[in-house]
Amino acid sequence: MSVLIFIDQADGHVKKASYEVLSYGAKVAEQLGTTAEGVVLGAVPADQLAALGKYGVKKIHHVANDTLNHFDAQVFTNVIAQVAQAAGSKVIIFSNNVDGKAIAPRLSARLKAGLVPGAVSLPETANGFTVKKNVFSGKAFENLTINSDIKIISLNPNSYQVVEGSGTAEVSPFNATVDAPKVKIKAVNKASGEIPLSEAEVVVSGGRGLKGPDNWGLIENLAHVLGAATACSRPVADEHWRPHHEHVGQTGLTIAPNLYIAVGISGAIQHLAGVNRSKVIVVINKDPEAPFFKAADYGIVGDAFDVIPKITEAVKKLKGMA
Ligand SMILES: Cc1cc2nc3c(=O)[nH]c(=O)nc-3n(C[C@H](O)[C@H](O)[C@H](O)COP(=O)(O)OP(=O)(O)OC[C@H]3O[C@@H](n4cnc5c(N)ncnc54)[C@H](O)[C@@H]3O)c2cc1C
Repeated sequence: MSVLIFIDQADGHVKKASYEVLSYGAKVAEQLGTTAEGVVLGAVPADQLAALGKYGVKKIHHVANDTLNHFDAQVFTNVIAQVAQAAGSKVIIFSNNVDGKAIAPRLSARLKAGLVPGAVSLPETANGFTVKKNVFSGKAFENLTINSDIKIISLNPNSYQVVEGSGTAEVSPFNATVDAPKVKIKAVNKASGEIPLSEAEVVVSGGRGLKGPDNWGLIENLAHVLGAATACSRPVADEHWRPHHEHVGQTGLTIAPNLYIAVGISGAIQHLAGVNRSKVIVVINKDPEAPFFKAADYGIVGDAFDVIPKITEAVKKLKGMA
C-alpha cells in the first residue's frame, strides 16, 4: 500500500501547485507508515522528475505517451486508475485545481473510492481517516470520515506548507493503455505576454470602484511593475469593462495567489469565495466600513485614484524601473 500523488505538468514543466501536494502527500504517507509515490502523465524531462524526490516522494510513475501531453479528464482518469491499481495505492491525492477537480470525482467513481474535495489540512489517521474541508464559501469547516478501502483527497491550494529537503526519486516508466480522446484538439492558441490568472503568484484586481474601463490603466500599470496578473469582480465583467475570464469569485475563477490586491472591491461573500485562499490579501477602498477589510491582512483606506499611482511609483523605484 502506498500514497499516490498526481503531479500536474504543463508544457513539460511540473506546475507550482504540485510541490504543495507532494509535501502534503509525503506527510500523509509518513502518518500511515508507508511511502509516497507520484504519477506524471505526458513528456517531462527525467531529471525534473527525479528532483521531485526532495519533496519526500520516493518513486515517480511516468507515463510518457504523446496523447497525454494534452489534458483530457477521461483519458487521464483511465491512466491514473491503472497506475493506482498496479501500485496498490490506498490513498490518492490531487491538488483541488482545475485538473484535480476534473479527475478526482471520475477516479472516485471508477475505483469506488470515497472522495473529499477541498481538504484544508492533514487527515486525522489515528482512528479512521477523517479529512477537514471548508464549506459555505469558507465560513465553516466540515470533518468527513472516509470508510472506503481506497481514499481520495484533493487539497485546496495554499493549505499546506511546501517542505523542501534533499534526495531524488526513482523514475519508473509505466506502460499504460491510453485511449484515444473523445474530444480532439485541433489547435491551441495561447494569449502571449499575459500571466495566466490561475497560476499567478501576484494578482491585482479591480472592482466597480474603478468607475469605468477607461481607468483600468491604473490596475494594469501596477500589475505590470509587480509582474502580476489582473482580475476583476463580477459586475466589472458583466458590464464588459473587462473580459469574463478575469472574473473571480463564486461564479468565476477560484484563485490562490501569494498576494491578492483588491482595489475598489467591496468584498461581497460571493467575491471572497474565489479569493479567500490567497496567502496575503491587501484591500484598497475609500470606505473604511467596506466588508473586505475584515478579510484583509493589510488595508489602505483611501481613494484608488490617489493610492494606486503612488504604490506603482514606489514599486518602480524599489525595482529600479523608474
Ligand atoms: C449568485 C451570485 C453570484 C455572484 N458571484 C460573484 C462572483 O463570482 N464574483 C464577484 O465579484 N461577485 C459576485 N456576485 C456579486 C457580488 O454579490 C457583489 O455584487 C460584487 O462582488 C460587487 O462588486 P464590486 O465590489 O466591484 O462593486 P461594489 O459592491 O459596487 O463595490 C465597489 C467598492 O468600491 C469602493 N470604491 C468606490 N470608489 C472608490 C475609489 N475611488 N477608491 C477606492 N475604493 C472605491 C466602494 O467603497 C465599494 O466598496 C455574485 C452575486 C450573486 C447574487
